[in-house]
Amino acid sequence: MPNHVLVMKFGGTSVGSAKAISSAAGLIAGQAGHRQVAVVVSAMSEVTDLLLATLEAGSRRDSEAVERGLARLREMHFAACEELLPPDRHASVRERMNGILDAFDRVARGMLLLMERPLRAVDRAAPTGERLSALLLCEALQAARIESARVSGDELIVTDSVFGGANPLFDETAANAESILRPLLDGGRVAVITGYNGATRDGTPTTLGRGGSDYSAAIIASALRADELWIWTDVDGILSCDPSIATDARRLEEVTYNEAAELSYNGAKVLHPRTLAPLAEMDIPVRIRNSFNPAGAGTRISNRPVKSLGVRAITSLSTVSLISIGAASLSLSGAQLMARALAAAARAKVELLLLTRSSFRQNFCMLVHSAEVDAVLEGLREELALELAHGYLHPIGVDHSVGLLAAVGEGMRGTPGLAGRLFTAISRRKVNIIAIAQGSSELTIAIVVNEKDLRTAVSAIHRECGLGRPAEALA
Ligand code: ADP
Ligand code: ASP
Ligand code: MG
Repeated sequence: MPNHVLVMKFGGTSVGSAKAISSAAGLIAGQAGHRQVAVVVSAMSEVTDLLLATLEAGSRRDSEAVERGLARLREMHFAACEELLPPDRHASVRERMNGILDAFDRVARGMLLLMERPLRAVDRAAPTGERLSALLLCEALQAARIESARVSGDELIVTDSVFGGANPLFDETAANAESILRPLLDGGRVAVITGYNGATRDGTPTTLGRGGSDYSAAIIASALRADELWIWTDVDGILSCDPSIATDARRLEEVTYNEAAELSYNGAKVLHPRTLAPLAEMDIPVRIRNSFNPAGAGTRISNRPVKSLGVRAITSLSTVSLISIGAASLSLSGAQLMARALAAAARAKVELLLLTRSSFRQNFCMLVHSAEVDAVLEGLREELALELAHGYLHPIGVDHSVGLLAAVGEGMRGTPGLAGRLFTAISRRKVNIIAIAQGSSELTIAIVVNEKDLRTAVSAIHRECGLGRPAEALA
């Protein structure tokens, strides 16, 4: 067996039913004869939502909802098992699934008793869906006579202890990949790894954040120094726009790591935002492919320069909040104020999506994910307490009713008049622009508008830039 390694990641819909799991097994079988294959799986679609809602019900002492959640989880996975596997496998697979679900049940019951939902307990229980889908996929591979071994992400990926969004420790993870995965692959087996989870150095389970199995796959590909990563999902690749906003969104044949990273950080759900960094560093190409249309070429992501002009894709985020800070006295130094505000945001470990500043009035605003706004505000109010108390600063403003859109493309560099065209296209639809930012790399133009206008603005730019498929291609 040549020791070229392919990592394949299957998302929620790509393992979302017995039929999907069986075609995933077929896609793996198609590669396993040619090279070493490590597979990363998500939970079946909607399962992680259901698991988290069940834990939440536990912490509210809603025992009926906990029972309902468990029954639904059991029913979904048992039904998939029955449809997928020959009858002589049902009893033993059901028993192992019960074992996985019992462990989840114990955590949910702990929450019922304590009426609390500690993050570290959530992280122990949340990857239950991945454990179940990995089990089903291994069974499907066995039925297809492909030898596989199930590996839990928490044996492999070593992380810090930021529960709910842990950060990998790459050297330790690479050492685990060598000692655990490499012998499996060298022995001709397919490794089936649960995505989304890891563990701290002392073995406490963690998760990498929602949608994190893309990131798991990237971490594992980098740890194995893989030749390629294929991410199987339910669309034909990276599209020029979220297909739920623009039905004529077009597949991009090829994008650079930078373009894909900008798109995912600015809301393109098809990739977890942190996925590309470890891959770009090692120059491991990625292909985003549709498991429901496996003959399609997908989108290739690599360092290869792409010859293209102007904007390539538009993306948007609606769960964001705009924080404004304004000096009430011109005697305050705007630069110092901004430096302190940024330091406070950094201490709160939040991601700044956009920053803009007016130099005359010493006002500036920052855009953050809504889930992080309380943490930033607390940090800012602490850092600027004196200025706020003495009226040197206006009260900090927060606007939750905004949305962010971003136009992305390497070819935007040096395309004169592009920003103006985008603003005109938006204004023509009577949408008010609240803030604008363009990074010095000129790869992205980010625009803040009212959330209610976000879809209108996104489709206006998509159309203005001619990104949709031609009318005759729209069946
Ligand atoms: P998976 O479960 O396979 O990880 P996700 O639901 O996380 O899949 O991501 C795929 C979804 O991302 C698509 O079904 C699509 O609706 C959405 N999406 C949003 N923006 C884009 C885009 N620019 N290109 C492709 N898909 C996008
Ligand atoms: N199952 C996890 C989630 O739904 C991880 C993933 O699908 O990537 O967030
Ligand atoms: Mg995903």
